[in-house]
Amino acid sequence: MKRQVAIYGKGGIGKSTTTQNTVAALAEQGKKIMVVGCDPKADSTRLLLHGLCQKTVLDTLRDEGDDIELDEILKPGYRDTLCVESGGPEPGVGCAGRGIITSINLLESLGAYTDDLDYVFYDVLGDVVCGGFAMPIREGKAEEIYIVASGELMALYAANNIAKGIHKYAVSGKVRLGGIICNSRQVDNEYPLLKAFAEELGSQLIYFVPRDNLVQRAEINKKTVIDFEPESNQAEEYRQLAKAIDENRMFVIPKPMTQDRLEELMMQHGFMDALV
Ligand code: ADP
Ligand code: SF4
Ligand code: MG
Repeated sequence: MKRQVAIYGKGGIGKSTTTQNTVAALAEQGKKIMVVGCDPKADSTRLLLHGLCQKTVLDTLRDEGDDIELDEILKPGYRDTLCVESGGPEPGVGCAGRGIITSINLLESLGAYTDDLDYVFYDVLGDVVCGGFAMPIREGKAEEIYIVASGELMALYAANNIAKGIHKYAVSGKVRLGGIICNSRQVDNEYPLLKAFAEELGSQLIYFVPRDNLVQRAEINKKTVIDFEPESNQAEEYRQLAKAIDENRMFVIPKPMTQDRLEELMMQHGFMDALV
């Protein structure tokens, strides 16, 4: 059974980097994976493809109509990963979330979801938990969600809001929260804070990814760390994250907290103290 995983989190938190490094590590283990970029920026597969995807699904649909071949939108990347970018609607016109579903439906009808796939990863922009960006959850496409967060206030606000969105669709459907991934911003007490945050949601801190400038160096070279410096400590961190996801059995309906409780939690971990 293929696992359909969506990675959510605030913009700039490290979703695309973390997703692609995790995918690269799983591919190293021989897993067959498709990555569907669901951010209008269309940079969810850049490190796997060694450059930006030439054409997104929505651009192809606009230019060529419905008569599309799968290989026009599905590109082979690092270690035979399959890469797709949904792209965005014409700026100021369509709904980006709807565009994601159009893309997924097209992929389905073209037979992209083959039985030999072990994983499909969706990398979803998640600042706004509008109906549009909840689409992959609403429509029952992604079943297993990981939220990328850090110890920063805004990252935790966003993560809690995303948990609210997951909660809404989890009670009526199959979607579950698999865990919180901390992508460290080196905030004081970050590990205990994120652990407490995840547990308060009824979930787990599935992995703590350290901050390392090697991530940026690899990015400039259009590569994942796994690809760019496979022997590095950071590559090993991503392998451990991939292993934790691969072996994960904890899938919950999250219990989002109130704003007050979130702030209290941050206070308990000395975060607010540091601000005054
Ligand atoms: P998102 O997809 O959530 O918008 P990105 O994955 O594009 O975020 O990451 C934003 C920036 O943060 C990128 O320039 C990336 O290189 C950097 N970054 C992400 N994770 C790390 C990390 N663990 N250490 C250092 N830099 C990181
Ligand atoms: Fe944009 Fe979301 Fe509204 Fe769609 S639902 S138009 S993605 S804000
Ligand atoms: Mg991104």
